[in-house]
Amino acid sequence: RVVVGTKVDQNHVNWVTAYNMLTGIRFTVSRTNAKMDRELTDADFEAKHKFSFDITGNELTPSAKYDFKFKDYAPWVFRHLRTIFKLDPADYLVSLTSKYILSELGSPGKSGSFFYFSRDYKYIIKTIHHAEHKFLRKILKDYYNHVQANPNTLLSQFYGLHRVKIPYGRKIHFVVMNNLFPPHRDIHRTFDLKGSTIGRDFREEELEANPRATLKDLNWLRRNLHLEFGPTKKKAFIEQMQKDVKLLQRLHIMDYSLLIGIHDLEKGNEENLRDKTLQVFQPGGDNAEEPQPNMLMRTPSKLESARKAKELRHMIKTQKPVPMEQTSSKMPNELHDHQRNNYFYTDDGGFQATHEDDTPGEEIYYLGIIDCLTHASTLYSFIKRMEHFIKGLMNEESQISAIPPERYGDRFVKFISAVTKTREAAEREKAEEAAN
Ligand code: ATP
Ligand code: CA
Ligand code: CA
Repeated sequence: RVVVGTKVDQNHVNWVTAYNMLTGIRFTVSRTNAKMDRELTDADFEAKHKFSFDITGNELTPSAKYDFKFKDYAPWVFRHLRTIFKLDPADYLVSLTSKYILSELGSPGKSGSFFYFSRDYKYIIKTIHHAEHKFLRKILKDYYNHVQANPNTLLSQFYGLHRVKIPYGRKIHFVVMNNLFPPHRDIHRTFDLKGSTIGRDFREEELEANPRATLKDLNWLRRNLHLEFGPTKKKAFIEQMQKDVKLLQRLHIMDYSLLIGIHDLEKGNEENLRDKTLQVFQPGGDNAEEPQPNMLMRTPSKLESARKAKELRHMIKTQKPVPMEQTSSKMPNELHDHQRNNYFYTDDGGFQATHEDDTPGEEIYYLGIIDCLTHASTLYSFIKRMEHFIKGLMNEESQISAIPPERYGDRFVKFISAVTKTREAAEREKAEEAAN
């Protein structure tokens, strides 16, 4: 099954939602950026601001194409996060609101989340569940402190947290984050590794039909692949991963993975990928084979359609200026430049393989720890309830609830560390094995 990253234009079923997301982002981000910078307070982490957009505009918000409500969460914290991650404020806005806006990856995982790429491919908007949204707000301070103390963090970089609601529609929460993959380089293979082997297999038979499929742990092992880092890079990489995972363990987070995109320098770029919006993607969520119906995909109700038609007529009649399309569609200059500060994104936006003597290798890895907003309790709510029940019966401390995030993280670090070795070391080991 090939899923195409489709351009979200006015004919797209999610156009209105996407448009509203970007209009809201542009308004709230400019609003916060316009103020003098200041230090964060505790209240900033809890802050939320609600805005009503409509087609006529009001004293607070400019006119928009559609009526919708927009909520902006912890704007000052995210402003500071964007600074920590070395994003240029103007560039961020241009990227997210330029003319062709977004391409949609659809709903890759079992979670039903939708992914949208900014036109220049630098940013990803991911719709998230309410539970994930609440959880991110709860851990925001820990996350903030961690990334501040760890400029080389491998964790997803969150740039904004918002909510959008169209009339008669449901509330859609979303985050803006970094796209780990580069706009200007082919990714020849993608892996999503968790350190588990159960169910972690992409059917190899389907690979031919989906050459860009996201492969999993068993596919990685079957190919005897490694993250080929010489001593210096290996040490830095494993140390940072350990620090990041410690935070995830402390916050009882599970189900995250290491996303790895491999660019083979010998193959180079096979296609001209200047306009990535037309690229073919195979999303790699856990149950990519079974897409779930998503909130964004529902067909609009009669009422909504009627309203939309009315709005369109109104727009045509009044020739309302359409703010979004006035934004320039310039292609922001070369990409991932804002990532220069992060050690793991310095080799053309990624982290190049090295040999045993630390000389450059043949591949560039684009990697990071993704999907890190799942609290153990949402996975283990059933077990927890049982545990409560058993505790009552046996009057005894059970350890079930304390263990999973710890064990998940330990297993993750162990697996990734074990597959981090140079080509030379892997070949030596293979030869030794064969000799025995
Ligand atoms: P599930 O919970 O079923 O795993 P999900 O909806 O939470 O799915 P993720 O695991 O976050 O989705 O991501 C699914 C896929 O989307 C990844 O395997 C990867 O292909 C792509 N993806 C996610 N985050 C990023 C990112 N930051 N950069 C590039 N690609 C990403
Ligand atoms: Ca996932
Ligand atoms: Ca998920």
